[in-house]
Amino acid sequence: MSNNLKYGTIGSPEALELADKYGDHNYLPLPVVIAKGEGVFMWDPEGNRYYDFLSAHSTLNQGHCHPKIIKALCDQAQILTLTTRAVMDNKLGEYEKFITEYFGYEMVMPMNSGAEGMEAAMKIVRKWAYNVKGVEDDKAIIIFTENNFHGRSIALVSGSSNPHYYKGYGPLLPGIAKVPFNDSNALKDFLVENGKNVAAFFVEPIQGEAGVFVPDDGYLKSCFDLCKEHNVLFVADEIQSGLARTGKLLGCDHDNVRPDVLVLGKSLSGGVLPVSAVLADREIILQIEPGQHGSTFAGFPLAGVVVKAALEVVRDENLAENALELGEYFRKEIRSIKHPMLTLVRGRGLLNAIVVKPKDGLEAWDVCLMLKDKGLICKPTHRHTIRMAPPLIITKEQMVECVHIIKDVFNAL
Ligand SMILES: *Cc1c(COP(=O)(O)O)cnc(C)c1O
Repeated sequence: MSNNLKYGTIGSPEALELADKYGDHNYLPLPVVIAKGEGVFMWDPEGNRYYDFLSAHSTLNQGHCHPKIIKALCDQAQILTLTTRAVMDNKLGEYEKFITEYFGYEMVMPMNSGAEGMEAAMKIVRKWAYNVKGVEDDKAIIIFTENNFHGRSIALVSGSSNPHYYKGYGPLLPGIAKVPFNDSNALKDFLVENGKNVAAFFVEPIQGEAGVFVPDDGYLKSCFDLCKEHNVLFVADEIQSGLARTGKLLGCDHDNVRPDVLVLGKSLSGGVLPVSAVLADREIILQIEPGQHGSTFAGFPLAGVVVKAALEVVRDENLAENALELGEYFRKEIRSIKHPMLTLVRGRGLLNAIVVKPKDGLEAWDVCLMLKDKGLICKPTHRHTIRMAPPLIITKEQMVECVHIIKDVFNAL
């Protein structure tokens, strides 16, 4: 065991070796080991400090180990953590009132991971299609967009257009159609043709995993209006774009759309627990009756208390305003870098991506390694796109320093 460690009991090489030998190989992480997180910073066991420009894919909007959220977690953990919904606990209703008022919906269905939230939304809209819209049994269609990312369950990858995500997992689930993203005419054509069987249209207000694609202004509104015209539910997957990430509370707020079904996850717990939520009005949520859906941890008291604290942080610390302002600053500064490898910066609020053109055998992955060596951690989402998404609590001074790091790296290339 090395004795020059600052955090934890094993060093980076040992940590990497153990995980490689004993753990799954589903991921290709950056070669860095994190031992501690606080606010916008992470440290490796050896004590090197990094700015976190990943935020666990927008799961740490409130920053690492936010004291208010951690306090809520620790306090509740000593009183009651789990009952299952077989009985009522004294925290669930309070949480449900809080979150529905916060987002302006009549009801919530608490779930755990994002994928589970999306699965629940698929079940809800199918029920709605049969019970309310009157679609013939087993004929309901859900429309996804091309290049979506809604999660990794079999149902969700059945609607994916990325072979990495669905190949080898067949047979896939029928009843999912795909239309191009940012093309409301394509949605219109599909609905004109098949609208009577369509339950819902699922969309990310910004496609995050795909590489931070921001649709044109008015796209979400046009889609919403088309859905209304054809009696189709508009379902927003705001798992990544929600909770102030894009400079407004929700990505849909940029187009003044109120989704019929809103799915949240990731930062809903400030990176502390896997928690998701499906919000909608009574007529929609209540299509699922007792015994027809559930999960052991759905709505557990520890989660309710943590989410309430995490949402209070989003509001009380003005994270949306901060993301809006520093996002503008970030894109302006990055656009001022003139370098042949840096071809594009796009995004909204603090959900941004840069597109890196390979040169002399160097590509986005190498840029990320250089950024890491200078103390800033981010990762390519596809081969040439680097997503940059720091915690939303980042200050102007910290952002100025991060922009310097990025400029230094491109100067050195
Ligand atoms: C991360 C993500 C999901 C899936 O969430 P998990 O908690 O990983 O299951 C779904 N949709 C979007 C837009 C996401 O970014």
